[in-house]
Amino acid sequence: MTLEQLIQYLKSQPDFLSNVTHWQVVPEQAAEYADFPDSVDSRLKKALETKGIRRLYSHQAEAYRQVRSGNHVVLVTPTASGKTLGYNLPVLNRILEDPESRALYLFPTKALAQDQYHELHDLTGKLDVDIKTYTFDGDTPVSARQAIRRAGHIVMTNPDMLHQGILPHHTIWLKLFENLRYVVIDEVHTYRGVFGSHLANVLRRLKRIARFYGSDPQFICCSATIANPKELAEKIVEAPVELIDRNGAPRGRKHYILYNPPVVNRELGIRRSVLSEVNRLARLFLETGVQSIVFARSRVRVEVLLRYLKEQARSLHLPQNRIRGYRGGYLPLERREIEQGLRSGEVLSVVSTNALELGIDIGQLDVAVMAGYPGSIASAWQQAGRAGRRSTTSLAIMVASSSPLDQYIINHPEYFFEKSPEHGIVDPDNLLILMSHLKCAAFEIPFREDEVFSPVATREVLDYLADKSVLRKSGDKYHWMSEIYPAEEVSLRSASPDNVVIIDTTRDDSVIGETDLFSAPMLVHQEAIYMHGSLQYHVDKLDWERKKAYVRQVDLDYYTDAITKTDIKVLSVDEEKPRGQVGLVFGEINVNMVTTGYKKIKLFTHENVGSGRVFLPEIEMATSAFWIDLPADCAGLLGIAASELSSALQAVANLLRNIAPVYLMCDPSDIRAVPMVRSPFSQLPVVYLYDNFPGGVGLSFKMFNDPRPTLEGCLRLVSGCACEAGCPSCTGPALEIGETAKRYAQKLLTFVLQQIENS
Ligand SMILES: [Zn+2]
Repeated sequence: MTLEQLIQYLKSQPDFLSNVTHWQVVPEQAAEYADFPDSVDSRLKKALETKGIRRLYSHQAEAYRQVRSGNHVVLVTPTASGKTLGYNLPVLNRILEDPESRALYLFPTKALAQDQYHELHDLTGKLDVDIKTYTFDGDTPVSARQAIRRAGHIVMTNPDMLHQGILPHHTIWLKLFENLRYVVIDEVHTYRGVFGSHLANVLRRLKRIARFYGSDPQFICCSATIANPKELAEKIVEAPVELIDRNGAPRGRKHYILYNPPVVNRELGIRRSVLSEVNRLARLFLETGVQSIVFARSRVRVEVLLRYLKEQARSLHLPQNRIRGYRGGYLPLERREIEQGLRSGEVLSVVSTNALELGIDIGQLDVAVMAGYPGSIASAWQQAGRAGRRSTTSLAIMVASSSPLDQYIINHPEYFFEKSPEHGIVDPDNLLILMSHLKCAAFEIPFREDEVFSPVATREVLDYLADKSVLRKSGDKYHWMSEIYPAEEVSLRSASPDNVVIIDTTRDDSVIGETDLFSAPMLVHQEAIYMHGSLQYHVDKLDWERKKAYVRQVDLDYYTDAITKTDIKVLSVDEEKPRGQVGLVFGEINVNMVTTGYKKIKLFTHENVGSGRVFLPEIEMATSAFWIDLPADCAGLLGIAASELSSALQAVANLLRNIAPVYLMCDPSDIRAVPMVRSPFSQLPVVYLYDNFPGGVGLSFKMFNDPRPTLEGCLRLVSGCACEAGCPSCTGPALEIGETAKRYAQKLLTFVLQQIENS
């Protein structure tokens, strides 16, 4: 049976159809080709021809033309539309014309750089000319580094390595910087919020060093679909960028299905579990022999689903290794092997977290299944985009969980199909981020007095650093004073660099995986059932000090799910502004997360079959926060039932999370908003907004200095939203926050704004 026949079959099944809330078909689209432009070197054309490429897609030709005419570009076309050739073509052509030319490719992760390396290397290997391409990251052996610096035509790396391993050592990268013609930034949409603000400053440093050596590189960016790719690229590159978004690659017909599992308990509104439904659907795909990817929202769910699918494969007499799992924590070698298996077709089905959402090349599959809404529209489109053949039909299906957010999406298909995806926002002039990079830049090359690094505050920050004796001013130049490399103290990402390694004691104490420090208490606490490649391991011991978890292979009928608790403690109040009956406060807080226990959940039936307690140290993060102290009797003052205050506060916190990133110019994940009906610190109802980075990066301080536009934005959003009693775009779905929350949130916001305005 083909996928087309399977779709026909599903259409004839009333049982299946009764759970479908929306079925949309996007018709096929023919390719738009363009001939190779005359200026393309014949050797390059020949090499491409051996790979079967005799013509270009229109967007590739357009990218080539724009780059040739000296413009910066951003290329926005779907996965597998040949984006890579869009930048490789102009870059390789330039190197053929002028073998001294150099290019730097930036990928958000090491894995992506290595993936693209293989593709590029395959192409350059077909040229008669020796074009040297290298990846340069933490794994690059010291012995190879000198050759890369001297001879690498194309160096493929990540922003962290550029920041800490290349820019501070520019003198030994002389050859690269003197001849740097192109900087390729792939997956530019991942550089949002604080990470993106850091990258913009890293690029300021890069351009500054390039200028020093007399080069002025062009930027070629690629992005997945976001609402504002051109604007984001221009903010990061800080120059006008040409947008290329007309896809010339052919596409087969594609079906999108939204599927809501049937209700099993009317009173409680509980639906059949996503995992069981996905398991049933997956069987159809396995039987049909179509290649599929299943996305699950957590690592545990990946492993549970993987186990189910392997069971299915067994009953269908399919070899076990045709069904694979994929997620962070699998070792690189295993991941490469799975990616390769997907490309070759050897792997029939893969169950993955959002780790496979990014541009890692796994080819195009027939079916993408989302086990639950992935949380953002951009992610949902990325995941759905993994299915899509050039000439045949493909299918993307989203199966909703009982969660209010999922239920909202599944019942409002227009939200998914018509709402534009999220905006990418950056703020390169965020004072703390800017200051960090000014230090790095001053270390790299002394600053001239009249030099402009950031358009807003270069000179002021330099003088401040000179005052603090970080820099020394002599004549009209600022020099770096300290012995240390400033870049070592600046991390571009929030995640902790430490990992916990997972050691299998069943056989020979081999390392089977790793997990980041923040997830370790949830995944590998003592007594946890850790699942890896669908095998179960019992965690005998978590050695927190040495960052090691010792596990033993077991065969049980349950898995574990950790119970965690987050708490906020005020450490200090730094500034306070009383406004009428409310107080606006800025200070330091401690955010504590602790795993207190776990539930045992039976496989297949998902019954809760027991629990246990866990004693682990709290994971702490001290950060800065802005908060609003509300009057003690605020419920009474506003005519809100005391029992409803908590949901009204939650609604305001949800609104803040939606709106604050716009005014703070950050990514939603850079901040957190948390309500408390009665704060242990002030005994008052409070809404906190804090920086989701250790030490803070100045976001909540910005909010404290001028909260009005954000609060007004929240009020405008909730008042103007067409929903009846709350939706994911405003206060959160009514099912989650209660029927009155939308109304009361408006009251609460109006009240706070009145207090601010009248004083
Ligand atoms: Zn709404």
